[in-house]
Amino acid sequence: MTADSARTSLKREFRRLFHAMDFISNRYLARKRLPAKLAAAFYDVYQQLGVAWEYLALQCRHWDGYRKVRGGKLACRICGTIKGTETRWLLLPAKGQKIIGRQTRPNSSHVFPSKQAATITEDSIQFHGATLHVSVHNRYESRLFRGKHDITIADDRIVRLLENGMECWLDSYSLHLKLPPHGKPIKPLPYSAFVWELPKRKLQKFPVMLEYDTRDRLQGVVILRPMRRGTKKGK
Ligand SMILES: [Zn+2]
Repeated sequence: MTADSARTSLKREFRRLFHAMDFISNRYLARKRLPAKLAAAFYDVYQQLGVAWEYLALQCRHWDGYRKVRGGKLACRICGTIKGTETRWLLLPAKGQKIIGRQTRPNSSHVFPSKQAATITEDSIQFHGATLHVSVHNRYESRLFRGKHDITIADDRIVRLLENGMECWLDSYSLHLKLPPHGKPIKPLPYSAFVWELPKRKLQKFPVMLEYDTRDRLQGVVILRPMRRGTKKGK
């Protein structure tokens, strides 16, 4: 469908929808001495049409601009959406690339009083079984230890991808791959060491390969996935 025909058919849909809303409103809701049960039923229909309006408006690109309405606000000439209001739903194409939001980064050198005040983006999506979290925040004062110590949490952009108990964590300072824990979680936290610090007998237990180029620059890290007994591919 071209943009022009989408606009034309959307305009027609909106005309019909607004007509239906006016019809219910004028014919039933505005009527005096309507039995309460009937009034409630028509009120429900009106609410449902309102939901349809909200969904339909997601398709509108507000091609014809805005007109002034009551309270000095601007409303779209086609769908009636007030300019600047946040939409509660997203419209995504079933086929092709889906785009939600834009890449945000810390945008202030100010130290915010709380995590909430410092947060720019905090969102997640379940996508075909994988989970993706994006968290972007400015600097803030930590409430750790009930505020007894002054700790400032650095600004950061953290992207986490979770799949089958594994996690890929990317922030401004590191890339962290976490495998599912073997059996019960072990306390304290796992040890960590640089590769050259470990003896060969230990390294041979880790299915990790380092990829590097002819100039000895790190290109990537490969971890061969430990297959659990009884797990089949595709599950
Ligand atoms: Zn519109």
